[in-house]
Amino acid sequence: MATTYNNLYLDTRTRLKKAGIEGGQLEARELICYAADKSREQFYRDMHLYASGELEKRVDALVQRRLGGEPVAYIVGEWEFYGLPLNVSSEVLIPRIDTEVLAERGILKARAAGEGARVLDLCAGTGCLGIGIRHFVPSASVTCVEKSPQALQYLQANVHGTGVQAKAADVLQYWRELMPQSVQLIISNPPYLTGAEMQALMPETAHEPAMALDGGTDGLDFYRAIAAHYRDIVCPGGWLVFEIGCAQRADVMEICRQNGWQQVQARKDYGGNDRVV
Ligand code: GLN
Repeated sequence: MATTYNNLYLDTRTRLKKAGIEGGQLEARELICYAADKSREQFYRDMHLYASGELEKRVDALVQRRLGGEPVAYIVGEWEFYGLPLNVSSEVLIPRIDTEVLAERGILKARAAGEGARVLDLCAGTGCLGIGIRHFVPSASVTCVEKSPQALQYLQANVHGTGVQAKAADVLQYWRELMPQSVQLIISNPPYLTGAEMQALMPETAHEPAMALDGGTDGLDFYRAIAAHYRDIVCPGGWLVFEIGCAQRADVMEICRQNGWQQVQARKDYGGNDRVV
């Protein structure tokens, strides 16, 4: 029986929600837009139109993939972070809503640093943080650093036309020579899951690159390395802003203090979990 876009949307939403997918409403819209090759605006405009049987089949196939655990971001190849669309695939971590609080801190710090602030985004992945900062603080000069060659391809595509630079480097190694000038801000959402957490990933997270998640046995390898090696790169009065796992606040604050960082502070994300040091 012929169905409208609206009914297809409601039906898809119900199927996703029944499977326990919290963001079922948004995901249903994303899957239908992708299957129909429509923008969100076109989708809302065309809600009352009839969808073809072909389209219904395409949506069904995408829903099956989603119900099999594949994240919707990987199915549609694009994900929005802080209002900015980013290219993604299973080679790169999907930007999380939890990370928006970090972008917000970064934007405030970069803005406060004044005209021409230099910003380094370490373990950049899609580049969501660096690109978000540059978008809202256009005078900032932003460099995103990523080790994975596969992720770097997505980073390069995402920074294209934004004025953000992308560089390949392993941040566990000291690489001062790559950054000739000191910076006012380092921002980083490094891999921070523990060995035990890596063994018990949620089905969606298991589709993501382990390299973007694995922070070593206790999850803290990147905090130790960055806090130690990158202090001299930051100008006096500059900031290091880390995303942390919600149980890592005390450890990461301690690592920062031990490495001579001052005014060490923590913040929660919008869900009330410790998220920023
Ligand atoms: N927040 C992510 C998760 O819980 C982890 C991201 C990271 O390791 N940087 O899956």
